[in-house]
Amino acid sequence: MQVAVIGAGITGLSAALELRVRGAHVTVLEAGSRVGGVITTLRRDGFLVEAGPTSLTTTPALEHVIDMLDLEPVRLSPSAAAKRRYIVRDGTPVPLPSDPVSLVRTRALSASAKLRLLREPFVQAVRSPEDESVASLVRRRLGDEIVAYMVNPFVAGIYAGNPERLSARHAMPILYHAERRHGSLLIGGMKEAKARAGVVRRRGITSFRDGLHTLPAAMAAALGPRVRLRTRLTGLAREGDGWRVQLDAQGAPEDRYFDALVWAGPAHALASLTLPPEARGALAPAMQLRHPPLATLALGFARRDVTHPLDGFGVLCPEVERRTVLGVLFSSSVFEGRAPEGQVLVTCFIGGERAPALGAAPLETLLPAVLEDLRTLLGVRGTPTFVHHQQWPHAIPQYELGHEAVENGAARAEAALPGLYLTGQWRNGVSLGDCIAQGQATAARVMAER
Ligand SMILES: Cc1cc2nc3c(=O)[nH]c(=O)nc-3n(C[C@H](O)[C@H](O)[C@H](O)COP(=O)(O)OP(=O)(O)OC[C@H]3O[C@@H](n4cnc5c(N)ncnc54)[C@H](O)[C@@H]3O)c2cc1C
Repeated sequence: MQVAVIGAGITGLSAALELRVRGAHVTVLEAGSRVGGVITTLRRDGFLVEAGPTSLTTTPALEHVIDMLDLEPVRLSPSAAAKRRYIVRDGTPVPLPSDPVSLVRTRALSASAKLRLLREPFVQAVRSPEDESVASLVRRRLGDEIVAYMVNPFVAGIYAGNPERLSARHAMPILYHAERRHGSLLIGGMKEAKARAGVVRRRGITSFRDGLHTLPAAMAAALGPRVRLRTRLTGLAREGDGWRVQLDAQGAPEDRYFDALVWAGPAHALASLTLPPEARGALAPAMQLRHPPLATLALGFARRDVTHPLDGFGVLCPEVERRTVLGVLFSSSVFEGRAPEGQVLVTCFIGGERAPALGAAPLETLLPAVLEDLRTLLGVRGTPTFVHHQQWPHAIPQYELGHEAVENGAARAEAALPGLYLTGQWRNGVSLGDCIAQGQATAARVMAER
């Protein structure tokens, strides 16, 4: 069986590897000139920068790939300090509580918000609407302050999103099911997270000595000449039991026949394809998914120019604190080998739903405002020794209220068009771990149905 996987991001590569293992003849068609999609590691001036995603949560699906590709020897665990996470409260980074004692003592929350947290398991569960925003669900059970100081920055950290617009059911399924199944966000959340993650999640986050791009590079190496770069899918049409695809192969048109087709590209890119009419209608909600622009700004400083100990994963900024940055990752404190001796590397996230214009703003506009944040939050003096600015015009799909229409439409398109499989960050979770899992699951579906 000949299967084409469209897109060599982490989802497409995961699907392709699994298809190969299960005995299919697989070809990966990638529009760009490199594999990995948004995973963008670069080395310059002694710094190792992740200009896109910065770390992977350890999941069973990831462990499977690491074992298969023998990547354990080059794998990195985070420093012990990375367990500490800060949020900004009244203009100052404050460590988030990690146990009941630190919860009682923390300055991150007022006394009344702490009481709300302790009382939450006893709050009567109501029959909540099927589709409710993340903010509304948490506000009902925990009040406004937890939404403003916990949920808002957390959602900015994962989705660069707005909790008032994101669907609890689709964007934060752990919270949604916690209330429905266990009657409590705190107790149910812990039980749901444990049940989903299995034991491996205890290892926390992962990266590699040479950065995250090690993973897609090793996946592509294992697939060898089955990966074709600079080859863009432009259209598809049914032919017999399979698919005739139109390609733009380095500027030259080409068409090929495949028995099955796995779309692992972003949802917004579906709009540029010539599709069968059934698919175009059903996939309209997916094509209209919002992907607000986001920028990452990696900055190096001499260690002596930063007052803050940078003893943690990073700091998130609640919207009410009115900062330019959504958050700052203490990159050289989390994984070793990210900055030269005597220097530190921080990575700032700017834009998203909170400030889309800043996500697309030029460096000249951004840098002074970001430096001002770093001066007040982290006591940074002097000028950066290293700067890398990266824009993501379509960063992360927002699973907003009504996301059901995206999911139902994709399922309808697949049912109407046998042999077409749709997967990627826009369907079953945006994290790298979720993308690996759904790539593998899609490959299993292809093999089971053909
Ligand atoms: C700035 C940023 C930071 C993030 N941080 C984290 C993090 O720290 N941890 C985490 O777990 N997740 C993070 N995420 C989310 C995660 O990185 C993504 O959700 C995930 O990498 C998406 O993978 P994908 O393969 O589905 O899509 P993509 O990486 O977008 O890959 C899709 C591929 O399809 C190709 N393509 C598109 N159209 C066509 C076509 N017509 N023909 C052929 N090929 C095509 C593209 O060129 C691309 O290579 C972050 C995302 C961003 C943008």
